[in-house]
Amino acid sequence: MATMETITEKGTIKTITTHYIDGAFVESHGREVMDIIKPTSGKVIARVTLGDEEDTRRAIAAAKRAFVTFGRTTKEERAGYLRRLHEAVSARIDDLTAAMVEEYGGVVRFARLIVQSGMDAFPAAEKGLDELALTRSWGKTTVTMEPVGVAGLITAWNANALFFCLKLASAVGAGCTVVIKPSELSSLQTQVMLECLHAAKLPQGVCNVVIGRGNVVGAELVRNPDVAKISFTGSVAVGQSIMRDGAATMKRVTLELGGKSPTILLDDAALDQAIPSALVLAFMNSGQACAAGTRLLVPKNRLDAVKRAIVDTMCSFPVGDPADPKTAVGPMVSQSQYERVQSYIRKGIEEGAEVLVGGEGHPTGFEAGCFVKPTVFVNVKSHMTIAQEEIFGPVLCVITYDSEDEAIRIANDSKYGLHSSVLGSDLQRARRVASQIRAGRVVINGMTDDPQAPWGGFKYSGFGREYGKYGIEAFLETRAILES
Ligand code: NAD
Repeated sequence: MATMETITEKGTIKTITTHYIDGAFVESHGREVMDIIKPTSGKVIARVTLGDEEDTRRAIAAAKRAFVTFGRTTKEERAGYLRRLHEAVSARIDDLTAAMVEEYGGVVRFARLIVQSGMDAFPAAEKGLDELALTRSWGKTTVTMEPVGVAGLITAWNANALFFCLKLASAVGAGCTVVIKPSELSSLQTQVMLECLHAAKLPQGVCNVVIGRGNVVGAELVRNPDVAKISFTGSVAVGQSIMRDGAATMKRVTLELGGKSPTILLDDAALDQAIPSALVLAFMNSGQACAAGTRLLVPKNRLDAVKRAIVDTMCSFPVGDPADPKTAVGPMVSQSQYERVQSYIRKGIEEGAEVLVGGEGHPTGFEAGCFVKPTVFVNVKSHMTIAQEEIFGPVLCVITYDSEDEAIRIANDSKYGLHSSVLGSDLQRARRVASQIRAGRVVINGMTDDPQAPWGGFKYSGFGREYGKYGIEAFLETRAILES
């Protein structure tokens, strides 16, 4: 893998040299060229020319011009644009999924769901917009909900197409114009999205996209006084820098950050259903998911049965080619992500946790590329590094508890609070436990979704919410007009 940057797939290299500004594909002013490396082989599959501050300023200027008109659109007009976006993205589901599999190594069965969720964000925003009262009046007072202005939307690589659609849907629903800075590791997906945007024929300048590095394009969005709001999905460290640097121009911010989500297995859970559910939560998106349920809390007196059930169920989570529909766990996105996961597995062993399944190194037969072994640790204590830090790979920590109260305490013993899960037969009891978890979302008895339900974190997982009307509200300001 050390020389992978120099290996290329002859004849199949794509080149991307344009951004999308003011309704047109425009050549990059920035000159830096970055290789896109396929994580299954380590070979270069594309070369992308990255934007610079000048590209970003041009995009912001286009968004600012467009806001004058777009900021005054009616609900009906915005709903029409959301429908067009939905139609354009729906027509490219296969291409978006293929790009996600190729450049990111997303397993196809999950990548398709991610893309579909992105597509569903548009009708969800339309419904949310319909439900929101943008004008309220009483007596001589009128209160209106106004779009905040030009918004900078910054996304992470692990589900870029979803975040792109989700943030765009909320912003358009609110009447904001946008400059999107997708993850530079997601340039092939972004290329398809740009074609969707062009096909949707939004008014010129409403949606602009600059592909580039975070510390160049992202930083310009955060510091530029013409950008009113940043909606960010990514790491805690960058989220904190956005809050800090954005304060100078009084940015409104939505931060969707990391997680270390607990799955509480109650003592009445049927293991034949609960363990497959727990492993789906742990290994979704090959463990590269902010919502991944990476801490499994089990009653001490059921530990042996849980261990047996995990070992027996692992055959349903094969590692493999992400394009194969049977594959459950694909490669890590990059060599550095591979090494990060390895270092955490080593740390877990050093701290005294016991490897039940997996461990260090590549899985047999997958020595090339960024594949890791899906790993389950037992004998994990809540204070250990592997139980506290976000690994962002397929590594599950099993932690035991003695009582329901202790399970809740351990679940909340985390600086994060994004997602969580409760598994149990008694629904009343599962709900009681769910209501005590300090996280933005709790799912009961398996992963499920609702595009109207808000998404976002407590504590270090960030703040602000996305999806449906909650997502739109995050792009609105409140204005009161009072007549004497
Ligand atoms: P990252 O923070 O490194 O990068 C995220 C985005 O920010 C990228 O587009 C990057 O180019 C940009 N960026 C980097 N430095 C910047 C700067 N100084 N100013 C502005 N933008 C900058 O995160 P990542 O590695 O791409 O993604 C993984 C992280 O994202 C994990 O922590 C994961 O939990 C989190 N995540 C959260 C959610 C959620 O919904 N809460 C969803 C997915 C991923």
